[in-house]
Amino acid sequence: MSESLITRGLRRVRARLAPGGVILNYHRIADPVDDPTGCAVSPMHFQQHLDVIATLGVPATLDHLVDAVVGGHRPERQVVVTIDDGYRCGLTVAVPIMQSYAVPATFFVPVEPLRSGGGFYWDRLFSLLAHDEPLPQSLELRFGTETLEWRVAPHSPEVAPNAETGGLIEILDRRRLSAELSARFHPLLPGERNELLEQVAEWSGREVDEKALPQTLDADELVALADSPLCTVGAHTVSHTMLSAHPASVVARELGEGRRILEEMLGQEVLNVAYPFGDYSAAVRDAAAGAGFRAGCTLVPEGVLGNADQLALPRFLVRDCDGESLARTLHWLGIG
Ligand SMILES: [Zn+2]
Repeated sequence: MSESLITRGLRRVRARLAPGGVILNYHRIADPVDDPTGCAVSPMHFQQHLDVIATLGVPATLDHLVDAVVGGHRPERQVVVTIDDGYRCGLTVAVPIMQSYAVPATFFVPVEPLRSGGGFYWDRLFSLLAHDEPLPQSLELRFGTETLEWRVAPHSPEVAPNAETGGLIEILDRRRLSAELSARFHPLLPGERNELLEQVAEWSGREVDEKALPQTLDADELVALADSPLCTVGAHTVSHTMLSAHPASVVARELGEGRRILEEMLGQEVLNVAYPFGDYSAAVRDAAAGAGFRAGCTLVPEGVLGNADQLALPRFLVRDCDGESLARTLHWLGIG
């Protein structure tokens, strides 16, 4: 038996003996067909999940779970729902389902998409690239000092490294190209991203299909969301960049402004943050404390016990699966 299996086994035994809580992480509650991130959960499955949560666990707010952790107690069987990125379907689709099961949720909302209304770069890249219309064969983009080049196959997902460039050129299918470019955009700030997006649009000879783009909340909708008794709004930085890629001044601004602007818009305190992509470091964690946050959420897939670090709370990223699959995960954690 490998060490990781032993560790996993011990953790499971510990969870069964002393069940803690769990924080679940959703993004879009929408049909997962053509979802570039693979994070969309269908409304039917979301409904099944809330049914399972209400039946097997104790639906709790994030603040309630943090109260237990701060007091050094296990948040016993508490299940917390969080929904990241501020997509409009959170308000229009998730909230009505939450109301039917009386399950609360925290919505982590980045500020920049709220203000620009232009959605996320990963959705825009997907719109420009993932289609059957002709595209030029070769795409070259500069990321800092590094120039990368991709060859785009008409439809084939085959990968064919090019010996001449040490494998930098590959023939990629469009969905994979969209995912690869998105990952390259993750550590960038909006100025750089928008410039590169324009280059990709120009190269593709297309425009983003704005009507088909998944919509994000506007300011009025954010206020409506915060007014719902089951909803809490948390911060998710200004520009949804990977914080650990940046110097302390940028991290402090992303966290501090991401909090301040939401508080101004909502007229209420914002005490919780989710680190974009779950990406954090000791410095990021300390910067979140410095920005006045009470709790910070990662994407380390573990249950929450009484000794958890409230500024580095684990969370499970939920993909589109049925209620039974979620029930098995909760059971594995000693819940239900
Ligand atoms: Zn996010």
